[in-house]
Amino acid sequence: MAGLIDTHCHLDDLRLVGDEDSVLQKASEFGVERMVTIGTDEVTSAAAAKIAAKHPDKIFHTVGAHPSDVDRFGEEELAKIERLARENKPKAIGEIGLDYYHDSNREKQVVVFERMIALARELSLPLVIHNRDAHDDVYRILSEKAKGLKILLHCYSSGPDFVERFMDLGCLFSIAGPVTFKNGQSIRDAVAKIPLDRLVVETDSPYLTPEPNRGKRNEPAYVKFTAEKVAEVKGLTLEEVAERTTQNAKKFFAI
Ligand SMILES: [Zn+2]
Repeated sequence: MAGLIDTHCHLDDLRLVGDEDSVLQKASEFGVERMVTIGTDEVTSAAAAKIAAKHPDKIFHTVGAHPSDVDRFGEEELAKIERLARENKPKAIGEIGLDYYHDSNREKQVVVFERMIALARELSLPLVIHNRDAHDDVYRILSEKAKGLKILLHCYSSGPDFVERFMDLGCLFSIAGPVTFKNGQSIRDAVAKIPLDRLVVETDSPYLTPEPNRGKRNEPAYVKFTAEKVAEVKGLTLEEVAERTTQNAKKFFAI
């Protein structure tokens, strides 16, 4: 089987850090070949770069500014994130975006989001988007500001009705553990609509552990369960899903 790629994990998280050898070992037992570890602020972006540097053909990193954290992003922090992006050769800018579920300043989220899109444009890097309960605004900002940039919608949760609109922007849709949940029907309906050349898979580990391991710590190995569910929904084999999603992820991140 083609090795799977976990397009979104947080290997610097306290629940995973220091446990890299066993996490990588288990990933390879589950057929997971590569992973992209995601930055959310200056500290986590620097940590992600460090982890990736230790495993150059296996782990890749991004630099990001998470919308839930904007209340503590002053000019100094944002400038540091920009400097990291210019110096550390990330594979994408993200996660960035909007989060209207958590209670942080929405106007500032928009300012930071647009500033990070401009950074991606300056560096010709793709975008990894976090969107929670902000579907219309994320769509509007991407269509106004991100023309011509490659876009990945992390942990896609906007349901089947938004699929066509985001397709028109050229987005990739990254499917995470909730597709396996009982209450994940709208994600499964979206997966049924998304063409195979627009799909990738992720864990968002250590969060969002897919069934049958829900409740335990998540790790990149378990992206296999998500890929299996995607295969079931689309009436394909795991092999076919692995091959296509890996091809899409390699092209997107240039890895
Ligand atoms: Zn994340």
